[in-house]
Amino acid sequence: MQLIDTHCHIHEIIAWDDADREEYSVTARWHKSGITDPDAVIATAVNGGVTRMICVGCTVEDSQLAVDFVQKRPEIWASIGIHPHEAARYAGARKKLDAFAALAARPKVVAVGECGLDYYYEHSPRAVQLKILHFQFQLAQAYGLPMIFHVRDAFEDFWPVFDQYPGISGVIHSFTATEKELHQALERGLYIGLNGIMTFTKDEKQLEAAKKVPPGRLLLETDAPFLTPKPHRGTICLPKHVRLTAEFLADLRGETLEQLAEYSSANALALFKVS
Ligand SMILES: [Zn+2]
Ligand SMILES: [Zn+2]
Repeated sequence: MQLIDTHCHIHEIIAWDDADREEYSVTARWHKSGITDPDAVIATAVNGGVTRMICVGCTVEDSQLAVDFVQKRPEIWASIGIHPHEAARYAGARKKLDAFAALAARPKVVAVGECGLDYYYEHSPRAVQLKILHFQFQLAQAYGLPMIFHVRDAFEDFWPVFDQYPGISGVIHSFTATEKELHQALERGLYIGLNGIMTFTKDEKQLEAAKKVPPGRLLLETDAPFLTPKPHRGTICLPKHVRLTAEFLADLRGETLEQLAEYSSANALALFKVS
């Protein structure tokens, strides 16, 4: 049995000294938990049956790091993205956006994202989030890459943008919406990324939607170091924990772990074309 973590941030374990990253808390989060060796994290995941992982970028610099990080590591691939939280940093930064776009041609880059709209936190103004999202759609279209979407409290604005770019495939990562948004995603051919939130949510609507994701559309992810599944709440999330989410979902959906592992892994291989 093999599982695939389609969304993690383990490359940031090694970004500690990068001046660009000081204000950004993900590396600090890893280090505060005593995690400083990404290869040990990967080895533990592989030993636990998590044979492949996708490292997801959130800024230009973070995406560069992810692309470099995956080159000599056979179990991992990179996605390049500008998170909606970070959009304001790049609104007028033409040179940085050019450097970002150039990453799409690098080996082992399998997707564009995470990108999208986050109106829950609204760390960047909505108009800027939209602008940076359009930029990433155009990049994905130009390179024929699938996209990893982060959409929170913003589906009403997201769908009209998505519908302007025919032929785009992708995943709504960290899906926690209801059956309504599930159907909107499925009718557009998108995959649904489920993570540890499922194991601890008290929102019945989220669980109902998770039950109804067709087997051919479900992807597993951790979003490590965030969103640790039960029963390890309070500790840092690692890619190996994708198994806990898989076990929970198999139980919820009335399937065996092996069934869920098989189809979710096949979906990941099909969407991201990793081998
Ligand atoms: Zn996200
Ligand atoms: Zn993420």
